[in-house]
Amino acid sequence: MENCIFCKIIKGEIPSYTIYEDENIKVFLDINPNSNGHALIIPKKHIKDIQEIDSATFTQILDVIQNNIYKQLKNKLNCDGITIVQNNEYGQEVKHFHIHIIPRYKNDNVKLNYNKENIKPVEEIYSIIK
Ligand code: 5GP
Ligand code: ZN
Repeated sequence: MENCIFCKIIKGEIPSYTIYEDENIKVFLDINPNSNGHALIIPKKHIKDIQEIDSATFTQILDVIQNNIYKQLKNKLNCDGITIVQNNEYGQEVKHFHIHIIPRYKNDNVKLNYNKENIKPVEEIYSIIK
């Protein structure tokens, strides 16, 4: 994808602080981090979002998180946990599938900014969805 920032990062046209890379996956630090060590994991092929990703690629991403990144961040940064966030369409700034990997530290006060106002009762929403 010609105008995709993350495709440009993969091609090396835009620099990144890459902390893991293999044939299919890249992990680099978010340029505007929500916590120390905030990273993005992306497939090297351009996939728009969760609606388009194939299960093989999703499994590769899961493997890298479980076998590499989680341990790397925990061991190097001594974080107390890791929060995973993934946006699709609305709320998604970069339209190349990515998962936010956000190291958490006790009392870090990281806010996910969910607005709890104007939320309908769960019973009402359930009756619409089911
Ligand atoms: P989204 O809102 O799409 O889920 O998140 C996109 C993320 O990409 C944001 O957290 C933003 O800081 C990050 N980002 C945008 N452009 C760049 C860039 O050129 N380099 C890096 N490392 N991160 C970027
Ligand atoms: Zn792309």
